[in-house]
Amino acid sequence: MRVRNKPWASEFIAENRHIAIASPENLKGKWQEYFGNENPIHIEVGTGKGQFLAGMAKANPAINYIGIELFESVMVIAVQKVLDAEVTNLKLLNVDAADLTEVFENGEVSRVYLNFSDPWPKKRHEKRRLTFKTFLSLYEQLLKKGGEIHFKTDNQGLFEYSLKSFSEYGLLLTYVSLDLHESDFEGNVMTEYEEKFANKGQRIYRAEAKFLNE
Ligand code: SAM
Repeated sequence: MRVRNKPWASEFIAENRHIAIASPENLKGKWQEYFGNENPIHIEVGTGKGQFLAGMAKANPAINYIGIELFESVMVIAVQKVLDAEVTNLKLLNVDAADLTEVFENGEVSRVYLNFSDPWPKKRHEKRRLTFKTFLSLYEQLLKKGGEIHFKTDNQGLFEYSLKSFSEYGLLLTYVSLDLHESDFEGNVMTEYEEKFANKGQRIYRAEAKFLNE
């Protein structure tokens, strides 16, 4: 996702540091304390403009949500969504997924959402896919025992690759849908990309996978 550089973005983010957290590494291991409760922490890696997490935070006030987004120019739109949703259980971090273990302690997170991750279709870019084994290893570290990855995409190639990657890593697949919007799955909150693809009549794939770590 590319958004043109926004000169006002840095200022807007600076005004909303209660949502877009500065120096999140200082809160490693202390996220529940920061939220002021003991509710589980669910993160979305590659949050984009924040529609999914804003909807989830509104629907599930007893969950603490944290969105991880690489580009500040995209995250700024998510900040506005959090303000509009008037939720206090959603924070945003301008962090690269590769650095997740710098901001979360081992076992601090209960669930990882991956929604419409960039597919990186060329084999030589496999390592950049957010379901590549090195990323699975990062998620395993920061997730609690039995933690889950919930994954949605419109991209059949990335979906098939990811199911194989989950399985080869030893994750247990607990849910697979080859057509989410025609399935009986309840409580789906659509992401921006999901809405765009669904409006074009494209099918949406969804999976849940669980780490069997002891
Ligand atoms: N999840 C949103 C949705 O479904 O509408 C956005 C999907 S968009 C295709 C992928 C997003 O992931 C982009 O905003 C991109 O900047 C972000 N992203 C890609 N690689 C990332 C990384 N390594 N760390 C954090 N965010 C990343």
